[in-house]
Formats: sequence, structure tokens, C-alpha cells
Amino acid sequence: METLSGRNAIDHWQLNRLRLMVQAILPANEFYRRKFSVQRFIDGLTLEGLKSLPFTTKNELVENQALYPPFGTDLTFPLERYIRTHQTSGTTGKPMYWLDTEESWNWWADCWQVIFEAAGVRAEDRIYFAFSFGPFIGFWAGWEGARKLGAMAVSGGGQSTSQRLKAIIDYGATVLVCTPTYALHLASEARKAGMDLAKESAIRIAIHAGEPGASIPSTRQRIEDSWGARCFDHPGATEVGAFAFECQSRSVHLNENEFLAEILDPNTGEGVGEGEQGELVITNLGRIGSPVIRYKTGDLVQPNYQPCPCGRPFLRLQGGVLGRVDDMVIVRGVNVFPSAIENILREIPEIEEFRVEIFEKEEMLEIKLLLEPRADEGTVIGLAKKASQRVRECIGFRPHVELVKPGTLPRFELKAKRFFKI
Ligand SMILES: [Zn+2]
Repeated sequence: METLSGRNAIDHWQLNRLRLMVQAILPANEFYRRKFSVQRFIDGLTLEGLKSLPFTTKNELVENQALYPPFGTDLTFPLERYIRTHQTSGTTGKPMYWLDTEESWNWWADCWQVIFEAAGVRAEDRIYFAFSFGPFIGFWAGWEGARKLGAMAVSGGGQSTSQRLKAIIDYGATVLVCTPTYALHLASEARKAGMDLAKESAIRIAIHAGEPGASIPSTRQRIEDSWGARCFDHPGATEVGAFAFECQSRSVHLNENEFLAEILDPNTGEGVGEGEQGELVITNLGRIGSPVIRYKTGDLVQPNYQPCPCGRPFLRLQGGVLGRVDDMVIVRGVNVFPSAIENILREIPEIEEFRVEIFEKEEMLEIKLLLEPRADEGTVIGLAKKASQRVRECIGFRPHVELVKPGTLPRFELKAKRFFKI
């Protein structure tokens, strides 16, 4: 399918997969049996018809698990068929659990093989996972994908940052898999220890997920410069799967072999055109044991329907995942996304870490930047003014800026949190 061209071929393939999945999950899957009228769903299902079905939302899944603890009812098979469980950090404080069968875990690994191959990772590569291998799905599936590819996987679980740096050198790792934030943190610690990773490590490819950083131009540049490696973005989600990958032509593609995407205006629910932004709504086609159908990811994306120089016919997401639908704030009439602020701040080399606070003053939203300068920059004179001016030039308003001492802002391994509504 990756080489088959044409929208019709993709549609045909997706409809077949969708019908097969629906036949497999209904009526055994209690969650979707209750949600849809079974007969209407099975008889003559079309891609157009899919669009008339209700959405699945995260709140709905969380409530379902609260009602039917611990795993809820989005399960197609008896519990003994499931072999893996992971949890999300959840939005309400209570984690959401997600189960996989042997088949669906295998499907995850296949999706990750696509990610690796698109980035140019080969069987002879050694892939280092700077990840703690805890209950979050994170890079567990990538670990399995490396096995499919035939590459050597090296675990960074249970290691400190300095142990990880040493392991990357000692193992001669050629591929790094971690969050973009953590790639920058490793680079910063290496610099403090007098190491030049671009010269001393063999890392040639870095694959990043968990945050949109690898598609934010200045963050990507910073990672590529410090590691001397090519950086690739991978958007995915625990309850959905590894749905997108970046190709050599720097396009983030939706893996339309395994995922059916709609991009909808969050206000009207209508599909958006090229150049417009909308919420990504996904139906996964290969996770029979615990599927999601028309799932509102909360991710804001912009479709690009032009053919990609890489030759893949899959939908392109311009700039990757641009942000979360509910993260956008309006400051003095300007739509502001956290990723836009990150892009500006990462362009300023003297800034090591930052935090953005959004607060209300006299019924207007204001933004305050807390900036942590690099410890090795002898001077911070003018940094606050420079940051403030850059934001003003790029977005159109002047933020409040405060400098904090080096080392005071938190560092993250997974899911960096730098934006706070106060
Ligand atoms: Zn491409």
C-alpha cells in the first residue's frame, strides 16, 4: 500500500479493512455494541456512512472504565486473550488502562517498523531507547518494532542521564529514541561534562514522540546540531496507536494502511480543506481487541493533499501535530499555540529551559515567560529583552519575562509540561 498510488486505492483498502474490523468486533465488543446500532453499522457500511456515526471521546472512555473497572468494556475478547496493559496519564487524575492482545501488540510493532523504515533505520543499526519502560506505553511498541526490523535494541530503562550517555557511546548506538525534550536534556548534560555528542556518539538518526518538538523547526534544529543526527517526528497515542511517521522528505504522513483519518473543524464538525487546521479524528483498523472508531484525538493538524517527493500516497500533516485543540489561547486577539512560543524560544541559544504562564489580568489574558539561561553563558544581559522582542515580532504582543537561575526549572523524560494556565 505504501507504494500504491491514488486516493481510490487507499479508500478501497480502508473500507475493506473497516468492514473486516466491524464484523470482528460486533456484537462482541460491548462498548461499541451499545454505542452503535449494530445492524445499521454492519449492513452496507461505507466510508461516507462512517462519518454519520457518533464520535468516541476520551471522557467517554474514562467514564466507561470508571463504570466498569478496571478495564472498561471496549474489549472484543475475553480478558484472558490480552497480553499487554499500559496506562495513560489521564486527564482527571485517574489513569486510563489500555489492553492489547497478541495480535494487536504485533500490529503496534508493525506500525513501528514503518516508522523506523521511513526514517532510514536498518537491521544493522543499534537503537538506544532513553526511556524508563514503566507503565506508560511510550516506547514499548518501538522496542518491539526494532525486533521486527532485526535491529539491536538497547534499553535505557533504570539509568541516570550520565549512565545513558555512557551507554550510547559504549554500545556504539546509531539511533536514539526518546522525547525531543529528553534529547535536548541529554545534550545539555553532555555539554556540561565536556562531551561533543555530534563527534563522540555514532547516533545518526533520532526518532521522537510524546511531544510535537521534532516538528517545531527550531527545536529540531537544536537537536540535530547537538547530536549531529537527522531528527524524525512520530505522533501517536496510547488509545489510538502509532498513527503517523516522518519520511526522508520531511513530511509527517498518516499511516493510512492502518488508520482512517478525518480532519474536522472543531466548531462546525465539517471537514477542513487544504491549508486549514482541524482536529484529527481517527479510526484504527488493526487493533481488533480494543479499537477506537471516530476517536477525537484532540490534536490539531493541517492536511496537505499534495503528493510527497518520497512517493508515498499517504496524507501529509503539515508541520506534524500543531498543538492540542484546547491548548490554544487568545491573547490580545491573537491565536497563540504553545508550539509557536516554543519555536521562538528554542531559536535563542542562550535559553536552556523555559516555562510559560498564562494568566488573566483585568479580564484579559496575559503571558509570562520564565526563562532559564544556559549555565555556561557568561552573561544574561539583554536576554529578557531579546526574548520579549522576538515574541512581539513573531506573534504580535509583548509578554512578561522573568529570568530564573540555571537548574531551577524541571526537566522531563516524558510529556514535558511547560505551559500553565493559572
Ligand atoms: Zn513523504
